[in-house]
Amino acid sequence: MSTPQFAAQPYAGIATFGRCPHVIAPTSADVAVLGVPYDSSTSYRSGTRFGPRAIREQSLLLWGYNNVLQTAPFRTLRVVDAGDVDVVPVDILATHRQIEAAADGWLATGAKLLTLGGDHSISLPLLRSHVRRHGPVAVLHFDAHPDTWDSEYPGHKYSHGTPFIRAIEEGLIDTAAYVQLGIRGPTNGPEDYTDALRLGARMITLDEFRGRTMPEVLHEVQRLVGERPTYVTLDIDCVDPAFAPGTGTPEVGGFTSWEILQLVRGLKGFNLVGFDLVEVSPPFDPTGITSILAANLAFEFLSLLAVGST
Ligand code: MN
Ligand code: MN
Repeated sequence: MSTPQFAAQPYAGIATFGRCPHVIAPTSADVAVLGVPYDSSTSYRSGTRFGPRAIREQSLLLWGYNNVLQTAPFRTLRVVDAGDVDVVPVDILATHRQIEAAADGWLATGAKLLTLGGDHSISLPLLRSHVRRHGPVAVLHFDAHPDTWDSEYPGHKYSHGTPFIRAIEEGLIDTAAYVQLGIRGPTNGPEDYTDALRLGARMITLDEFRGRTMPEVLHEVQRLVGERPTYVTLDIDCVDPAFAPGTGTPEVGGFTSWEILQLVRGLKGFNLVGFDLVEVSPPFDPTGITSILAANLAFEFLSLLAVGST
């Protein structure tokens, strides 16, 4: 794969992620950016099916050089835009199978995946694929919500509020290294939090985060995770709706955009095996501010892989 051939102007041409080549069939690459335009398991406001396209659109303005991590990921890495998984909006199990098939195909080539959702239910099939390759993983889960409910709808195990209890039940997550960051807001009751803690999560609430310094928090995360293969899942609602209003279940009082950038950059040196970025809902994002942040966070993920590869 040669260096991406950029159009002269960022607003010209087809909007692939970062203007990288659009390659559907798994092939030799360092990173594949994969869209999953699926939002049928959303419990409140939907619209994340439009997330991948909106994030791609805003990614056109990514300048290319990361001054904090001092890397140019699109030059250092062979990054391709793998297009979107062929989802089935009326069938979550069929959609999960499609996600796993796409992820397995790319991971088998040795590429790493940066997946753009879509609602948070997509993390479960993505974790299955990553665990098939790496064994149980440490998980860094940025979110306002624990997403460890047993069921949002009695008798239905899969939705965007349940991926991590299912992942733990399936043995996908090393629960000694499962960290939730940014949790906050009113819930149905105390069980929302105590259930997550009982499953083994280290829950760093927004309030705890505010009471500590960022280096302290990052040091604790590093100590918990160690050298384990680590999967990062970022629900954009971890960020305050003042910075990221375009999401289905907003909770006030979250990370600023600077804080989430710094937290992600703080993962430099971790053994990172995959990323997803979910819950961006363009219908609630009239100025594009949420998709702009998401595109930049995706750029930071790529930068971490670029730094780790040299
Ligand atoms: Mn959430
Ligand atoms: Mn979530």
